[in-house]
Amino acid sequence: MNIDTLHEQRLSLLRTSGNKITDARKTILNVLEGLKGHPTSAQIVEAVRQHDQRIGRASVFRTLDLFCQLGILRPIYHEGGGARYVLMPDGHHHHVVCLNCHCTIEFEDCALDGLAHELETRLKVQLLGHLLEFYGYCEQCSLLPNK
Ligand SMILES: [Zn+2]
Ligand SMILES: [Zn+2]
Ligand SMILES: [Zn+2]
Repeated sequence: MNIDTLHEQRLSLLRTSGNKITDARKTILNVLEGLKGHPTSAQIVEAVRQHDQRIGRASVFRTLDLFCQLGILRPIYHEGGGARYVLMPDGHHHHVVCLNCHCTIEFEDCALDGLAHELETRLKVQLLGHLLEFYGYCEQCSLLPNK
C-alpha cells in the first residue's frame, strides 16, 4: 500500500472515531510519517517544532496518546528510558530485538493474517493490527556454542 493511501486511512480513522482533524494533528501525523526508525517523544516534539513552532509539547503528547488509542501508533520500550513510537504500516510491525546489544532488526514477512482472522471469529474482537517482537541474541552476540 502506498504512503498516501496510508495517510488518508489514518485521517479517516481519526474522522470516523469522532476526532477532529486539526492542523496540529495533521502536522504531527506528517512528521511521524517522515521520521525513520523508532523516535522518542522528545525527538517527535523536536521534529514537530521544526515544522510548526506553535504546536506545544503538551499538544504533541496528547496527540501521541490519541494516535496510540486509535492504533495508528504503538509505544515500544527498548533500551530502558522512555517510550519509542512506531507507526503501524498496514497494521503490522515486526522486530527481532537483541537482549545484549539492543539492536532491532526489522522484518516484513508475516504469517499472522490467518491467526488474526481466527481470533476475530473466536474471540469476537475486531483487530486493527499487531506489533510482533521476537527477542534473543543477534548474530554478533549469539551465545550459541560452535560459532
Ligand atoms: Zn546483539
Ligand atoms: Zn520497527
Ligand atoms: Zn504481521
